Amino acid sequence: MFVALMFILSNINKIEVAEEVIEEISEPKYEYGILVDSFKVTKGTVKQDQTLGEILYANHIDHPQIAEVVKKSKGIFDVRRVNTGKEYTIICKKDSTEKACYFIYQDDPTNYVVMDFTNEIDVYRGKKKVITKVNIAYGEINSSLWIAIEEQKLSPKIAAELSTIYAWTIDFFKIQKGDGFKVYYENKYIDGDYIGIGRILASEFTHNGQKFYAFYYKENENYGEYFDQNGKTLRKAFLKAPVDYKRISSKYNRRRKHPVTGRWKGHFGTDYAADRGTPIWTTANGTIVAASYTKNNGNYVKVRHNGTYTTQYLHMSKIKPGIKKGVYVKQGDIIGYVGSTGLATGPHVCYRFWKNGKQVDPYRQDLPPGDPIKKENKEEYMIAKDSLMQILLNKEE
Ligand SMILES: [Zn+2]
Repeated sequence: MFVALMFILSNINKIEVAEEVIEEISEPKYEYGILVDSFKVTKGTVKQDQTLGEILYANHIDHPQIAEVVKKSKGIFDVRRVNTGKEYTIICKKDSTEKACYFIYQDDPTNYVVMDFTNEIDVYRGKKKVITKVNIAYGEINSSLWIAIEEQKLSPKIAAELSTIYAWTIDFFKIQKGDGFKVYYENKYIDGDYIGIGRILASEFTHNGQKFYAFYYKENENYGEYFDQNGKTLRKAFLKAPVDYKRISSKYNRRRKHPVTGRWKGHFGTDYAADRGTPIWTTANGTIVAASYTKNNGNYVKVRHNGTYTTQYLHMSKIKPGIKKGVYVKQGDIIGYVGSTGLATGPHVCYRFWKNGKQVDPYRQDLPPGDPIKKENKEEYMIAKDSLMQILLNKEE
């Protein structure tokens, strides 16, 4: 027994030795596309108020070379934009000088700038490879979608994305016990480190015993959107709000006291409070019919969408240059920026909505849907949808 154990132990040792040998003939090691086998690699973080010049000087780059770096960086990298907390890498020769051969500044998890001191100074940008892996997650909801996502230790971004995808389909305040979700989505990695979720590719949301599907499909090179199992869009012809707002400060109300004049008068718009300068979007495709200033409205834009609907956006700090009468805009295009011009107490957008010439509350309208999948794309969409559906259905409950 003892002998047998000794034999096993000595074999373990042999295996370990064998592994070490394999490591000696390991593959060449690269960082930021630079072969670093014969170099010393040091990582650092930009300290409070530290400048690029200080970091380079500390790594034995002299002042004339720093001046050269500033010159060569023009149009590639703003050397004043070296921010506290950002990571950098110094690559230098394994000798006593410790003079940097390369300095790499990591702009964000993907983008970096290389300053090469090996020959004539060279400055260039690079991108780390992002690896995307797909994953499927599912959960049953007991109280809210956010809590269910948290219980599964999933990114809260999934909850935010799902609530955007289903904004017109499901009222997330009416979620009940027994509702649930399955979601097929991307996870992104750089150098093996998780950096966040990518896109949701498909999802099934069970609400009130009914299943609601969403499949991502790109009809256009630049952007895609979500369609249901029949190719109908999950989007309405109008966005829910014209701005990424903090809160709705006043709703459509036939009778309210005006905050500035104190007079009782109907408020026929919806007020969205947001920071000054926040972009304002047109909520649907249409043609600008007014982009102007009045004492009460301040800077405002009015968009006619079709024979039935018109929208208006008031109190802008600035109308976006180029937005003027006759210009065609698409849903989500920026038309101006949040402000408090005209009769307004604080920065907000007053959003007004006309149906057949009458101001109405957009939240009480049964708004028309956005366009379904185009005829010429329908067949391709159905094939893509079928394979995504299969992935969702294969997931065991
Ligand atoms: Zn208002």
